[in-house]
Amino acid sequence: MTEHNWAGNLRYSTTRVAHPTTVEQVQELLTTERSVRALGSRHCFNDVADTDGVLLSLDRFAPLEGADDLEIATSADGTSTVTVSGGTRYGTLATALHARGYAIHNLASLPHISVAGAIATGTHGSGDRNQGLAGAVMGLELVTATGDVLVLGREHPTNAFPFDAALVNLGALGVVTRVTLRVEPTFEVRQDVYEGIGWDVLAEHLDEVTASAYSVSLFTRWGDEGIHQAWLKSRVDATTLPAEGADLFGARPATEPRHPLPGISAVSCTEQLGVPGPWHERLPHFRMEFTPSNGDELQSEYLVPREHGAAAVAAVRSLREHVVPLLQVNEIRTMAADGQWLSPSGDHDALGIHFTWLPDQPAVEALLPRIEDALAPFDARPHWGKLFTTPTDRLAELYPRLTDFRDLAERLDPQGVLRNPYLDRVLPRR
Ligand SMILES: Cc1cc2nc3c(=O)[nH]c(=O)nc-3n(C[C@H](O)[C@H](O)[C@H](O)COP(=O)(O)OP(=O)(O)OC[C@H]3O[C@@H](n4cnc5c(N)ncnc54)[C@H](O)[C@@H]3O)c2cc1C
Repeated sequence: MTEHNWAGNLRYSTTRVAHPTTVEQVQELLTTERSVRALGSRHCFNDVADTDGVLLSLDRFAPLEGADDLEIATSADGTSTVTVSGGTRYGTLATALHARGYAIHNLASLPHISVAGAIATGTHGSGDRNQGLAGAVMGLELVTATGDVLVLGREHPTNAFPFDAALVNLGALGVVTRVTLRVEPTFEVRQDVYEGIGWDVLAEHLDEVTASAYSVSLFTRWGDEGIHQAWLKSRVDATTLPAEGADLFGARPATEPRHPLPGISAVSCTEQLGVPGPWHERLPHFRMEFTPSNGDELQSEYLVPREHGAAAVAAVRSLREHVVPLLQVNEIRTMAADGQWLSPSGDHDALGIHFTWLPDQPAVEALLPRIEDALAPFDARPHWGKLFTTPTDRLAELYPRLTDFRDLAERLDPQGVLRNPYLDRVLPRR
């Protein structure tokens, strides 16, 4: 039987999937197998998780059964945290957290992904003031390829192993068995969809549009209507909320629930029309119990420093005759800087331009260099878990700490147990 990723565009180079249930079993696999890669929920679109050895899944590692199993710890400075297995899915965790009266600051567009897999690739939601999902990580338990168990904390960084190096880690530093996440009191969110923000209006008011709610997602297919949908996710405890029936920079409030992809039923989408609800049932676009997005698709995403946002959007729009034939939809989001070495929004606030493609990988990969060239003046960094063709030397220019990260990975994994073709491309050996 073959093993493949969620999108079905990648058949892993092995059929061996191990499901350790203890740290000792993780240590044993890492120290006895020739090649191992941690596997999350398989939602990446490229070969970042691939190996021809053993895929190590934590889906049976102290699984999260429900709210009663969660231990919320509160430190002297009032910071509350929860510790979960790296294989826990955000959707499961979020439901349990909410039941206990807690929340995480943000979620990706889908709740189905694993915590450690999302962190490893710099997965993010949206919001001018919201860091990516790794921004909530306060601690990690990492089993290295030599079998050492490292317990790392945001509050106790060491020069030998800065915490900001450990988060977006591409699975190259070891297997993250446990993650400690900062939590906050649960909150309610309302989701309002607006239709039709013209290109001129967007160019002039981009910053105001993205600042108009806690989390904003702008969907376009580059037609004359501009942004065909703007999804505003507003915290109900915010000082200003969308006014009933009012426009958003000329866009009208939708009168029915919408799917971001034109012509698809909104049944799989989280509730809209301004109905308040728990954070975890509004921040993702898609409901846990349904297939997210279209299900038959590929994805790419490029993040640029915020100040280049409008110019980067214009650059992609100038390629629309090449992009649109392969495109299902584009989504524009924002993220706050987080200081992490390999985070695409590490040293600056960022704007992300995400592409949901038709499932034609050769054609998409033929087009990506053109998009990357158009975005090169804006120092666009590709999403680590989606399709990209950015050359290795360009990645090293874009990430000043990439070489330091490679050295750290080589120190922790001298035999290259965790190496795979993806890492050989993005982190070539010394
Ligand atoms: C429909 C859809 C919607 C998406 N929406 C978003 C979005 O809104 N925002 C966004 O940023 N991304 C989005 N993505 C991309 C996705 O979030 C990332 O690719 C994420 O990494 C998926 O996590 P995963 O658990 O499936 O990881 P996998 O694909 O299983 O693995 C990814 C990487 O994580 C490593 N890894 C996994 N578990 C561990 C562990 N325990 N220890 C160490 N390393 C580990 C793997 O080795 C691999 O390198 C979307 C993807 C899909 C399919």
